[in-house]
Amino acid sequence: NSVPQIALNSGRTIPQVGFGVFLVDPADTQRVVEDALAVGYRHIDTATGYNNETEVGAAIRASGIPREEIFLTTKLRNDHHKARDVDGAFARSLEMLGIDYLDLYLIHWPMPANGFFVDTWRTFETFFADGRARSIGVSNFLVPHLETLLAETDIVPAVNQVELHPIFQQRELRAFQATHGIHTEAWGPLGQGKYDLFGMEPIQAAAKAHAVQPAQVVLRWHLQTGNIVIPKSNSRDRMAQNLDILGFELDAQEMAAIDALDENRRVGGDPAEIN
Ligand code: NAD
Repeated sequence: NSVPQIALNSGRTIPQVGFGVFLVDPADTQRVVEDALAVGYRHIDTATGYNNETEVGAAIRASGIPREEIFLTTKLRNDHHKARDVDGAFARSLEMLGIDYLDLYLIHWPMPANGFFVDTWRTFETFFADGRARSIGVSNFLVPHLETLLAETDIVPAVNQVELHPIFQQRELRAFQATHGIHTEAWGPLGQGKYDLFGMEPIQAAAKAHAVQPAQVVLRWHLQTGNIVIPKSNSRDRMAQNLDILGFELDAQEMAAIDALDENRRVGGDPAEIN
């Protein structure tokens, strides 16, 4: 039972289940990422803003796993948007990570009020062209931001990484992205612990029926919905649990009951307002 690979519009593939390191303390990051690789993750999601790129790179080297077997994502920080800063920020990320190419480079937030994201994206296109970024994408983009990129630039983002979990299912955005070949990557796939997701009745019921943990039900729902997921945990047991979601399947009623939990409510920041 290996993790499904999703084909991106860049011609590359991404493992559908990855491991996120937001809020992993730099002092713990090397151990945490080494554990994640040891339990079987081959897709790691970091960001310059998480201040742990150096430690992620160190873990990858320490693991002894060949670089090409690991899918690595990082993200451009919000204060590096100005066209003249983007090149340097990208080069510094490669240096901190200790690698010569990235699997996926994302614009972390659109920062719409400063009006830079189109120029930033044009610079991202050069990283794709020179092979230093094998895929390029965006994060926290709303439909109007995607429409602007589609109208004004050449390369369609491979993914949009957005807040997505059972009470915020992003139906409209997902439908839009599906028509443009943009894959949906879910951040906060477990709701970031900000509401009692695991106590919700349909999730409890499915967990019981399949003899799995509620977190596994939620991640399985994401997989069957078509989302790429990057759950985070510092605990090796939970890392393993979050990856062990390929041996059962939710039936149509179970999926529908979780679909019905959608309140179209964010628990994180609104991309229109973060600037
Ligand atoms: P998450 O939804 O993955 O939740 C993490 C929390 O769930 C942790 O506190 C952990 O203790 C708990 N948890 C994990 N596995 C569990 C299990 N099996 N059982 C019970 N509890 C469990 O939230 P997240 O870390 O914010 O999101 C995942 C990743 O998404 C991040 O690490 C980061 O890489 C990415 N992210 C991106 C953005 C963005 O703006 N692009 C924003 C937030 C997060």
